[in-house]
Amino acid sequence: MAPHTDDDHTDDASAMSELEQLQSRYSAVQQRISEACALHGRNRDDITLVVVSKFHPASLVLNLLALGQQQFGENKDQEASAKAAEVAEALASSALVGHQALVLPEWHFVGQLQSNKVKSVLRYASAIHSLDRPSLLQALIKEQAKETELQPIGVFIELNLTDDANRGGVQSANLEAFATDVLAAPGLSLLGVMGVASLDGQEQRDFGAIQSASEQLQRLSPEAKFISAGMSNDFETALGFGATHLRIGTAITGPRQYLT
Ligand SMILES: *Cc1c(COP(=O)(O)O)cnc(C)c1O
Repeated sequence: MAPHTDDDHTDDASAMSELEQLQSRYSAVQQRISEACALHGRNRDDITLVVVSKFHPASLVLNLLALGQQQFGENKDQEASAKAAEVAEALASSALVGHQALVLPEWHFVGQLQSNKVKSVLRYASAIHSLDRPSLLQALIKEQAKETELQPIGVFIELNLTDDANRGGVQSANLEAFATDVLAAPGLSLLGVMGVASLDGQEQRDFGAIQSASEQLQRLSPEAKFISAGMSNDFETALGFGATHLRIGTAITGPRQYLT
């Protein structure tokens, strides 16, 4: 598909540079988060915005860092590890030429994680939102055990909100047993639960289920109180159901370019 058409110049947006558009989407989303917090009696300071930067270049991350955004989400190790390295390099060289120090990024891994990618992800990620099965837990424990200076990795247990046990994620009936194993694991810090609402118009049901699972988990571990839920299309609803970590992509970044 062509990136623009001849009548693009009639769009208001074309008068704005890409950076200005990013800025404007970023502040619009921040505004919507604040308004939804007010509506649902939530404290804005309790909410972490994770900007999902997948399919976007390191330059977008650098632009958002300059706006004060620190938390970024990625869903593929190959892309994320390269981007994290590129961003770190750009920050190091701008520090060398005396540019004002930006905030350092923190990377959240939000996608399905293969066990053989765990070693790589642990090098740059500060949290993994997609701990969804015992074999991944074992891989994390094994890699963390190799560290001489152990930095605990924050993890969210990803929930399977369907009745289909073959789908990814942990079903509510298995949550306590799985969480008990996570809590016993050295080098892992259990932050809470994560869920993706289905696209069938039943987000309220799904976010309600995530919130109940969180309550179930907090009876076992009061510190594991965080809820990673809410994306571009449903974050305001998620804030009504206790979400603490919003994973927002396109509403801030603009459409992703899927290269085939
Ligand atoms: C891509 C992605 C998001 C962001 O989705 P948007 O609809 O672009 O906001 C959030 N969570 C996960 C797990 C994702 O893969």
